[in-house]
Amino acid sequence: MLLETIKHLEIFRPKCDSTKEVLHAIADLQEDISPALPFLNSELGGWDYDALNHVLLLKMAPGKWITLQPRQIAVRGCRDIAEARALVEWIKNQVNEIYARRENIAPRYTGQASLKVMEILKLLPKTNCRVCGYATCMAYAAALREGETSWENCPPLKEETFQVQLARLREYLESFGWRTLDA
Ligand code: SF4
Repeated sequence: MLLETIKHLEIFRPKCDSTKEVLHAIADLQEDISPALPFLNSELGGWDYDALNHVLLLKMAPGKWITLQPRQIAVRGCRDIAEARALVEWIKNQVNEIYARRENIAPRYTGQASLKVMEILKLLPKTNCRVCGYATCMAYAAALREGETSWENCPPLKEETFQVQLARLREYLESFGWRTLDA
């Protein structure tokens, strides 16, 4: 087991948050989890990964983030203490479970944040038909990059004419570990 001990867990309200409606949690770790980060990035679809400094950022849902560093896990945007504790426990289990399977996982060193909106846009039908619920294909491309919608929500892209573009789009997204945000 790579991560055995959380030495200290602090759950607190951020002073800079005027709404005072969310909690943050900081877990200080006994062990160095940096060897697990490229595998976590691969399996969990990291938003951003700084391989040099060993910092992995996971975007879980709008306003909810987990940051992993060698000896610290920070969770931002929890609705209450129970959720903060549950998320810390969940990511601790993920560190151990994914690291135990590392020989069967291709490590990933890029994150979703490196996706380019213009590259996504190039692969969309570019008709601005609004069937996806966005005002323009550009707006949809930006939301897709953020993980706020799925490539499945552009019906024209599923038409026969766009099959090659759709395959390229999926390949491009997947090469950066893209995933939709959790509901
Ligand atoms: S449904 Fe597809 S083609 Fe239509 S606006 Fe949305 S992204 Fe563009």
